[in-house]
Amino acid sequence: MNIKLVAIIQCEKAKNRCSGYACSDSFYKKINSFSEYNNKTQYLSFTCGGCNGKGVGPKISNLVRRMPKLADIKKNEIAVHLSSCITFDNRHSDRCPNVDFMKSIINKAGIETIIEGSYISKKAQIKRELGTYKKHEVNNESRNK
Ligand code: SF4
Repeated sequence: MNIKLVAIIQCEKAKNRCSGYACSDSFYKKINSFSEYNNKTQYLSFTCGGCNGKGVGPKISNLVRRMPKLADIKKNEIAVHLSSCITFDNRHSDRCPNVDFMKSIINKAGIETIIEGSYISKKAQIKRELGTYKKHEVNNESRNK
């Protein structure tokens, strides 16, 4: 992968009670879902805009349109991470029911690399193993293209 920019999308509802620190810390330390990036990879984050996730459309379009001029970054050099508060069952809520819808919007804007996950809480992983939180099939096929 030649990814120059990581865009983390956070659940609007979870954002009301989460600073997003754990996700940005994971990105800077290149751990959890960010281990394949390097120190030159840039990052930004924004929220989905609220249910049903349609708000990602204008934000992604803006990103795709502006990044070539602002930072010489093309859409095939951008990876979008749907954060763990969106893709996993956790203390915030269950997996967002609109994941596939948001992925289709992001794809339509021309971004092919869409990763499920960001910061991975060890405690939440244990609860998934114990069955306290549900386990969901994670589809990160685009990462291997
Ligand atoms: S669409 Fe999903 S990610 Fe966005 S606010 Fe609703 S539940 Fe959260």
